[in-house]
Amino acid sequence: MAAPFQVVHRKYLFEGYNGTGKRRTMTISSIEVIAGPMRSRKSDELILCFEPIVTLMGQNAVRVFKPRKDSRVLLPGQAGMGTVQSRRGTKMSAIDIDHPLDVLAHLRSPGAQDVVAIGIEEVHLFDDPEGFERLHHHLTYECPPTLQRVIYCGCDTNFKGEPFRIMGYLMCVATLVKKTKSLCERCQPTPVVEHATRTGRMGHSTEEIQIGDAPYVATCLGCHHKFFLS
Ligand SMILES: [Zn+2]
Repeated sequence: MAAPFQVVHRKYLFEGYNGTGKRRTMTISSIEVIAGPMRSRKSDELILCFEPIVTLMGQNAVRVFKPRKDSRVLLPGQAGMGTVQSRRGTKMSAIDIDHPLDVLAHLRSPGAQDVVAIGIEEVHLFDDPEGFERLHHHLTYECPPTLQRVIYCGCDTNFKGEPFRIMGYLMCVATLVKKTKSLCERCQPTPVVEHATRTGRMGHSTEEIQIGDAPYVATCLGCHHKFFLS
């Protein structure tokens, strides 16, 4: 029995997203994932990737999307909505969206004709993994002809150390995966070697997603097990 994704894949490959029956030339050449625990500077990496593009081609060449529910403020005095903020103090304007497929609607709008690279932040916060798989398929096979680079960014595991399903999928289909690390906030007082790869969470909530920065703790494997799983 074919997997659901294969059915979607064939439908859109041969019928075309707009029902035109026309295949489009694939221009996308780089599908990247930046994954790691909280406070591992994933947003810094994303902004660093896009800064040279903006410098050479202008702001209109890139778009960054983020889930609307992520209203965290990492830079004092800045609004959380409409921006991606890094912990080193940089920021980029972002488009808040409710569903992964909102990216397609934006890329098909007249103002997005020059976009060559897009980034999607906090991928793990979206509630719809199937929608994200469809988005990825459209970006790969039905993307705007100018689009060359897609970067997905998010936490790889939840507070229990279990993979976020959509991140596992994206890390498999990516052409490049970068895993970011941080300093363990439980055992590592000096910044010599970063080896925090997990995210612990304080409190008693069992919800997989809890918006906010304060409850989360970047930890090494040993401290994650010792302080958060035992
Ligand atoms: Zn530790």
